[in-house]
Amino acid sequence: MQQDDPIITLVTETAPIKTETHGGRAKCLQRLVRLSLPVPLTVALSFRAVHDIAEGRMPDIRALLKPFGAHPLLCVRPSSEDPDWGGPSAVLNIGMNDAMHAALSERIGIEAATRLYGRFVRTYAIHVERLDPDVFDDLPMSGPAALEGALAAYQDETDEPFPQDAAVQLAAVLKSMARAWRGTTARLLRQAKGAPADAGLGLVVQEMALGLGKGGVCGSGVIQLVSSGTGRLRITGRYMNQSQGREALQDSGEGALYLARDARGPSLQDLAPEAFEQLVEYCGLMRFRLREEMQAEFTIENGQVHVLDALRAQRSSRAAVRIAVALAEDGVIPRDEALCRVDPRALNEMLHRQVDPMAPRDVIGKGIAASPGAASGKLVFSALAAQACHARDEPCILARRETGPEDIRGMHAAVAVITERGGITSHAAVIGRGLGLPCAVGVTGLIFDMKEQLLRTRDGRVFRAGDIVTVDGTNGDILAGEAPLHEAAQDDAFQAMMTWAEEYCDIGIRANADTPADAEVARRFNAQGIGLCRTEHMFFDPGRLTVMREMIFAREGADRAAALERLLPMQRADFIKLFNIMQGRPVCIRLFDPPLHEFLPADRAGMRELAEALSMPLSDVTRRVEALSEYNPMLGMRGVRLGITMPEIYDMQARAIFEATLEASRNGAPVVPEIMIPLVSAKREVEMVKKRIDAVAAAVKMETGRDFTYRLGVMVETPRAALRAGEIAPHAAFLSFGTNDLTQMTYGLSRDDAGKFMSEYVKQGVYREDPFHTLDTEGVGELLMIGAERGRAARPDLTLSICGEHGGNAESIAFCRDVGFDYVSCSPFRVPVARLAAAQLRI
Ligand code: PEP
Ligand code: MG
Repeated sequence: MQQDDPIITLVTETAPIKTETHGGRAKCLQRLVRLSLPVPLTVALSFRAVHDIAEGRMPDIRALLKPFGAHPLLCVRPSSEDPDWGGPSAVLNIGMNDAMHAALSERIGIEAATRLYGRFVRTYAIHVERLDPDVFDDLPMSGPAALEGALAAYQDETDEPFPQDAAVQLAAVLKSMARAWRGTTARLLRQAKGAPADAGLGLVVQEMALGLGKGGVCGSGVIQLVSSGTGRLRITGRYMNQSQGREALQDSGEGALYLARDARGPSLQDLAPEAFEQLVEYCGLMRFRLREEMQAEFTIENGQVHVLDALRAQRSSRAAVRIAVALAEDGVIPRDEALCRVDPRALNEMLHRQVDPMAPRDVIGKGIAASPGAASGKLVFSALAAQACHARDEPCILARRETGPEDIRGMHAAVAVITERGGITSHAAVIGRGLGLPCAVGVTGLIFDMKEQLLRTRDGRVFRAGDIVTVDGTNGDILAGEAPLHEAAQDDAFQAMMTWAEEYCDIGIRANADTPADAEVARRFNAQGIGLCRTEHMFFDPGRLTVMREMIFAREGADRAAALERLLPMQRADFIKLFNIMQGRPVCIRLFDPPLHEFLPADRAGMRELAEALSMPLSDVTRRVEALSEYNPMLGMRGVRLGITMPEIYDMQARAIFEATLEASRNGAPVVPEIMIPLVSAKREVEMVKKRIDAVAAAVKMETGRDFTYRLGVMVETPRAALRAGEIAPHAAFLSFGTNDLTQMTYGLSRDDAGKFMSEYVKQGVYREDPFHTLDTEGVGELLMIGAERGRAARPDLTLSICGEHGGNAESIAFCRDVGFDYVSCSPFRVPVARLAAAQLRI
């Protein structure tokens, strides 16, 4: 072997091995060698070497084999740059032939040697020579007949005897692994995990430590110091006597032992205490020197421990947080590195219950993951049924075509919601996130038969009302039956990470909170304020919905005034609560923006209920609903248009805000409310609304004899508002970009209907991602930049922010930070995610 050839390198402390050229496994093995761990002799093949092999240029195999002696027994493992990218399976026992069989029969017994040889022949035939596995189907699994049968079957199929030369075997193994890396499936799999198209593969060739024998403890296993589920200190792993590779982890793990002493069964600690102690010591050393919790793969041969490999220990989201925090607290890594080691999305997972990732999943439908968390319960198809279930203390899953205000009561009663229609910003999605309720919308693969009250899968399975299903809102899956769940965790490790993140964050994080309950959650996560209070959502509460509808239904000014008079104290009380909960932190209240269709009854039962509540004949209600119906409600009588055409509505809201301001300022620091005008498209709208709000402020000041200040801002949700930001800004203390509507209008893409084809669009690569989920930095982003630039040019002290659903998305936060926004605002449960993502951007 050419020792100076960097493409084939003996793994020593000083060898020129890099992750970028030889892969993560080779590099890790070198680190283990540097720690003086008992690693069997290893040779690393670089990406270039493996590329050459795939192209048919085989290196000098005899030279490669030289360090391993005259009769080598080897294994080959993949070494990709990132271990997550995978690679072909390891091949063990290369070099097994008749002579080795005879020699091993002496050493480990004929039975074990025969089993080893037989297994190698099968592996070689199937994975290297690509023979059909059926060829071996009828052969016995062990014993001399199995070996003879396997050798004969090999010869029958290939017309050649099984190769006896280790060099021939090794060359064939290397070639098959190098080519497997290029296969379409392997390429797609790794690209799905983020690997570049030209990702290289390295290979490591290692002397076998047998794990089989007659002279003392022999076996193999894996060990790590922490639990993969919780991240807490607990020595875990499996070990199996007389085994190799990862056999101890396979299937039922029959015959496998625990590592540490365990009441559930026998352990390696009992069987071989010294070897166990050594392994624990090695893992501790790795943790300290490799600065990571590792899982070591080991073999014990006649009592002697060998460390074959080490990988970053697998971990759930909550374990990732605890491990990173513990490493920082133990001084192994600095805090900023600990912050960067956790994917912000992982926090999202740990704040909610999750389906056990290890459990089998019977997926019956897939939707858009609209609100994270998981829950199991009985299927119900109406809000009423959900409430009935709730009254019986039975958890239920509410299935609807889409949700509206009538469903709010049902959503409160349900443990999760699924809808046939809708996207990431639809009613069900927004409310689900606000309530912390698992939610999947735009579900495909399931037919929602509301009449028959059942869900039907494409392959004919039927789930009726009362059947148990599980909703995994974190990835949008609907599962049959009750899946095992992990509880949510906001433990000390999470708190520590959040405190550290706050120290690094250089962009404000506020919460979108509509109700006092939302505000409480926002405070719990230490949001710096409320960035968006959707006031119309305060009327989703069933007891109040009718008053809101009365106001919407009013034909005469006098009727409307009466309804507004009833709404005023409700609003005032809400705002007082919000101000008190937020304790002087800013609260940005958006004036009504009710897309009318969300407030009108959708069916006959709803109309009847409304007719009763309003003491109106059903026919009048039906007529009025028809009169108010719009062809395109999202572009109709919404937002500021309502404020311009029925100004007394915004007058009432402004009064409620100001009176609440005075009330909440009584016992503490003066509250400075922020009032935001929605769906603006013209400067004149802002001027007109501002004039009336100023007048209300003056009236309240005069009536009470007390003073206060407030900030008036504009929500930029239409492309025109972004383009005309220069003339709007002089009338606004702040601009908040409502990127839900701005995305809808920039693309001309209905936020409620896009769910139907979005996954297909993303699958076909038309859009890289769902633009309602991740901000389209090119198109919508350009409007944001234009709006920010023109706004700031006209008014340098202008506060800029984003309050669409993108506010909680890491990539979108990066964009907002680059553009110089002051803060982002997102659902309360996403505040920790946003904060960690923002901290990472700064680090
Ligand atoms: C938006 O449009 O981005 C927004 C925050 O408002 P809503 O989702 O209520 O329309
Ligand atoms: Mg909007």
